[in-house]
Amino acid sequence: MKKTILILVTTFIILGCKNEKQSNGKLNIVTTTSMITDLVKNIGGEHINLQGLMGSGVDPHLYKASEGDVTKLASADIIFYNGLHLEGKLVEVFEKMKSKKTIALGDNLDKSTLIGSDYFASNYDPHIWFNVDYWIESTQYVAKILSEAIPDKKPIFTTNSEVYIKKLKNLKTKLSSTIETLPKEARILVTAHDAFNYFGKAFNFEVVGLQGISTATEAGVQDVQKLSAFIIENNVKAIFIESSVPKRTIEALQAAVNSKGHHVIIGGSLYSDALGNSGTAEGTYIGMFEYNVNTIVNALK
Ligand code: ZN
Repeated sequence: MKKTILILVTTFIILGCKNEKQSNGKLNIVTTTSMITDLVKNIGGEHINLQGLMGSGVDPHLYKASEGDVTKLASADIIFYNGLHLEGKLVEVFEKMKSKKTIALGDNLDKSTLIGSDYFASNYDPHIWFNVDYWIESTQYVAKILSEAIPDKKPIFTTNSEVYIKKLKNLKTKLSSTIETLPKEARILVTAHDAFNYFGKAFNFEVVGLQGISTATEAGVQDVQKLSAFIIENNVKAIFIESSVPKRTIEALQAAVNSKGHHVIIGGSLYSDALGNSGTAEGTYIGMFEYNVNTIVNALK
């Protein structure tokens, strides 16, 4: 494994030196998750060559670089990634790419405000996009980095970020008013893995993930039993599957609850660590967040 990574990194460096810019003169920007791709697209627009590595339904915790990714990373001028060990299998690759400009959005945030976690080497919960305020800060950060890299486009990137931040602020207001319609005691969110802690903190939900904070460890029988008791005790009406995590764990949980005579429904599929298909509303950060909140509120009402 180590050897493979070393070869990949050597390839990046050799190819990277040859391909500073593509023939159209625009900088090559590579992003990891679909949330970050969407964010960078909103700021950079047609002024950058943008390539995202992870599509819809892809789990970043388990994602490994493919040969195609090696080519993309090799020709990248800037790589934007989440950091905080979200992309657990790519960390080693990024850390060795000293010749590349690798930018982790998580590094820009005030660490003292992040949610701690023992599951990650970073010691922080990496699911930062579920706090809209962090996404606003990340928008400003991306605009700053792109403006430094392409100074003559700075006014465009600044305007784009201002427009997008306005949309994100509107989103936050809209989500809050939808959540307001849900009684406080019904604000319990049970999902496949702990992706929604920042969401819970921002909107006063109690959040419980079956698999803990990363999908790298599978839920055990004990986790299922413990969580099914919690669901019954708190009279939770619905639990949720996630688009980037196999649904069998949540189905096992539902079966465990229902076998004890309590009825819990699967309230729908939430987008946690990846957006929906591109070209659909859920294929954007804003559309994804609205979809998630509508799905949660409708099922728990
Ligand atoms: Zn996750």
